[in-house]
Amino acid sequence: MAYKICPRCGRGTDDPATMFGRNKREKDGYSTYCSTCKREINRAWAAAHPEKIKLKSLARSDASLRVRAKTPIPADLQDMFL
Ligand SMILES: [Zn+2]
Repeated sequence: MAYKICPRCGRGTDDPATMFGRNKREKDGYSTYCSTCKREINRAWAAAHPEKIKLKSLARSDASLRVRAKTPIPADLQDMFL
């Protein structure tokens, strides 16, 4: 298993499963940022885009709203919403 470092907090591990969330979109199968940073990033994004969070919760029950959502969610955060 390759050593993986979180570019945000600088912490690293040789066992990404213990520190990083899963992300199928990433080459190595793990999120770019560690779980701790990802939580903080997600919270900051949610605080900055309250209307998007509202829209996302609507989109869960209405797929057509998701298509109409204008601001794309950063790729690294999509797992939390889709
Ligand atoms: Zn981190």
